[in-house]
Amino acid sequence: MAILTCMDARIRVFEIFGLIQGESHILRNAGGVVTDDMIRSLALSQRKLGTREVLIVQHTDCGLSMVTEDDFKDELEAASGLRPTWSVEAFRVVEDSVRRSVQRVRRSDFLPHTDNVRGFVYDVKLGRLTEVTDAR
Ligand SMILES: [Zn+2]
Repeated sequence: MAILTCMDARIRVFEIFGLIQGESHILRNAGGVVTDDMIRSLALSQRKLGTREVLIVQHTDCGLSMVTEDDFKDELEAASGLRPTWSVEAFRVVEDSVRRSVQRVRRSDFLPHTDNVRGFVYDVKLGRLTEVTDAR
């Protein structure tokens, strides 16, 4: 199994899923969003290291829900003189972001196993995981 989640320190992945070390691949970035680089890691995970399932876990109170695409790019451009070519992947509604990421995995031509992909929202206040059911 491969678990994609946010880098947020409040998400204690091993504890939440009751995992033991060596059981799963854990892929983290800002938001737990499926980007090209996540697809790169998943392609290796599935094709060379044998994982077949993907869990995507995003969360409430995420930093990506506190910025907008343009505002954050403006800020970076003002500070550096360069506007990033990558997407910030900001979102307003975390469930929508989970659905987008699930679709990106399901539609990827690089991944052999796209049938078993599930999306979740982790509530950081309640410590509760809720499946985003209409992510199919
Ligand atoms: Zn986050």
